[in-house]
Amino acid sequence: MGRVSGRSCIVTGAAQGIGRAIGEALLNEGAEVCFADINGAKVAEVAEANKRRLGDSATRVTHAQVDVTQRDSVQEMIAHTVETFGKIDVKFNNAGVNKPMNFLDVTEDNWNFIMGVNGLGCMIGMQEAARQMIAQGTGGKIINTASVASRQGFDNVAPYCASKWAVVSLTQSGARDLAKHNITVTGFAPGVVATEMWEQVDQDLMKIGAAERPGQAMEEFSSEILRGRVATPGDITGTTTFLASPDSDYMTGQIVMIDGGMTLV
Ligand code: NAD
Repeated sequence: MGRVSGRSCIVTGAAQGIGRAIGEALLNEGAEVCFADINGAKVAEVAEANKRRLGDSATRVTHAQVDVTQRDSVQEMIAHTVETFGKIDVKFNNAGVNKPMNFLDVTEDNWNFIMGVNGLGCMIGMQEAARQMIAQGTGGKIINTASVASRQGFDNVAPYCASKWAVVSLTQSGARDLAKHNITVTGFAPGVVATEMWEQVDQDLMKIGAAERPGQAMEEFSSEILRGRVATPGDITGTTTFLASPDSDYMTGQIVMIDGGMTLV
């Protein structure tokens, strides 16, 4: 019996990085998982790899192509998951983007892109998951991916920080609004996690002149980490599985920092 056995979960942004690791850790503890991502081909490969890995339990895996900024797309992903697993118990709003720009150069397009995926995408994801959980009458858990950038503003990534503060705010508001439906809303805040996102951010920071060599930005961002190293996605999943499990039932409205002690707030 795993920690999340029998729980039907959706994870967005699951074609790679943290989202993929969250989904795979849930599978390891007995859950049914819909891996969802805007990159349909890649998320299908992730699902297939996990089906092969699970063998006889392959029916616990499905996938969906989704754009979290589009309500009809999110509704389709939820309908597909309910059709496959019969219900939804846990929804991870994890898809996220970043595109560094110097503060004075930030454009409306840059703001709207980042706030669209990280802010609006989280809001729509919470709403549509909650509607399904309310219709089921089962309650459920919504878990949002925040960041150290939800606790502190950093240079060259202002819209990203604003969008991740928005995730904290949505977590708190959702917790209050949805408590009467037995739905809890929590979040977790990684620090620096070695994923494709960071590789891209590293390159983008060099392009805008905020770093001179590959790896410099990551080194600078992570120099204050008390645990002495950046995280891997595997460092995050003990907590995410806990948040999806009955062990966290009395928690709501909270963000758990998983940053190795990078920010003490
Ligand atoms: P990643 O770039 O490796 O993966 C993000 C995934 O989201 C990608 O597969 C991408 O295709 C998908 N995605 C992007 N836009 C989407 C959309 N509109 N609809 C659906 N899917 C979409 O990033 P990651 O490092 O795994 O980050 C995952 C989450 O963790 C993000 O919310 C990110 O902001 C957050 N986070 C990451 C770090 C870090 O250091 N990597 C730190 C703190 C928080």
